[in-house]
Amino acid sequence: MCIGKQLNKSEEIDGGNVDASVVSKLPEITREELKSHNHPSNAWCAVHNQVLDISKFARRHPGGDLILLAAGSDATVLFETYHPRGVPASLVNKLKIGELRKSEQFESYYSWNSAFYPTLKKRVVEKVESNKLSRRGGDGSIMVKGLFFMFAFWYCLYQMCVSSFNDSLKWSVAMGFFASFIGTCIQHDGNHGAFSNYRWLNKAAGWTLDMIGASGFTWEIQHMLGHHPYTNVLDCEERELQEKSIDRPLFEKDQECDPDVFSSFPLLRMHPAQEPSWYQQYQHMYAPFLFALMTVAKVLQQDFELVFSKRLYHIDATCRYGSKWNVARFWFMKVLTMAYMIGLPVYFHSSLLKGCALFLVGHFSCGEMLATMFIVNHVIEGVAFGTKNHARDRKKEVVEKIVYRPKTVEGMTPMIETRSAALDKSKSIEEVPLNDWAAVQCQTSVNWSSGSWFWNHFSGGLSHQIGKYSSIVNR
Ligand SMILES: [Zn+2]
Repeated sequence: MCIGKQLNKSEEIDGGNVDASVVSKLPEITREELKSHNHPSNAWCAVHNQVLDISKFARRHPGGDLILLAAGSDATVLFETYHPRGVPASLVNKLKIGELRKSEQFESYYSWNSAFYPTLKKRVVEKVESNKLSRRGGDGSIMVKGLFFMFAFWYCLYQMCVSSFNDSLKWSVAMGFFASFIGTCIQHDGNHGAFSNYRWLNKAAGWTLDMIGASGFTWEIQHMLGHHPYTNVLDCEERELQEKSIDRPLFEKDQECDPDVFSSFPLLRMHPAQEPSWYQQYQHMYAPFLFALMTVAKVLQQDFELVFSKRLYHIDATCRYGSKWNVARFWFMKVLTMAYMIGLPVYFHSSLLKGCALFLVGHFSCGEMLATMFIVNHVIEGVAFGTKNHARDRKKEVVEKIVYRPKTVEGMTPMIETRSAALDKSKSIEEVPLNDWAAVQCQTSVNWSSGSWFWNHFSGGLSHQIGKYSSIVNR
């Protein structure tokens, strides 16, 4: 295997044909200026510290308006990870309007200086094409599965209303399960733009999250801007400022941090760099009860917090809610879903208490199912965690400074073990940075129930987070 070719900086940016005279004439742009261009009609983003104006291009973007999620931010990870076939350098040069001021450039957790990830993407594309598979939507089974889950959800809701209260509780549990499968099998693909080759169908699939009561916009912000780009990465500096109740302006905040590992802290400790509390030693016992609250907290609290504050933790949501249509969609779907998920059960059972109880029971089963599926992907024995900025010991002394190496709880880096095992077989393997983006994904995620037909389909593919490293090395 030969994946060790080092890319130079210009190749990293846009495929290798950067016009040097264009780059040198570009004006310097501050982070504050970049952050202020975070509106759908006035959107800039940074890719490898080059600033692009994407306002007009958003209408022609093959992936639709997903590109606007990057407005005002460092979009390097999104740029690199959403384009398996790359982006033409000529297009990037056309959009380029400046360069971030040298002293304010983003210092990433990741290294893009190896051919590992580009090679991996190339091989995945080749594999998909050689098997005559569609990059989106698969072979149509996703449609059959999607329609089945939609029918099952509505049928359970109907039975929940017309059955006796005792039976309704069972239908409510079933409705929660099917809602969780709508989450993993329809909306997840739709909002990622991967449900279908048709843009409108991806939008419709994304809306199914709103149909079950949660805002697709909150999901996009947390999942696509926080979790995927920075899986299991914690920004310790930001964490320390939060503990001191210091809230810096958004443009000064580091965005390389995964909300999934800190959003339930201090109730649950999901990252080894977080300061432990005495009660967290029992979290393996009480966490399953808290999992049940996951979706109800999103639907009744986080969605509203985000639409009012236009931010989620360190992530700016101004661009998504800068469109009046998006704000209208949020409120319309909230009112509508509350009407049929709470209003109808209240009406049919002639009791506010019973109606609310059925709504909550449905959410408990949905939250339990989803959180259990998520936790086994990223917070389990053997996975690694990334630490951005400073890792400090309990006396608050810097013990390891800016070493971007993902580590397990035991302090091991899975890739080092894999590399030494692979070197035994072949001395020709060249070094890949431990913090290469794809390498970090492989170290911070694991498969579960690998090979299970049921879980592969019902988890929407979440059970297969990463391929086997050996199958890549042995090519
Ligand atoms: Zn995803």
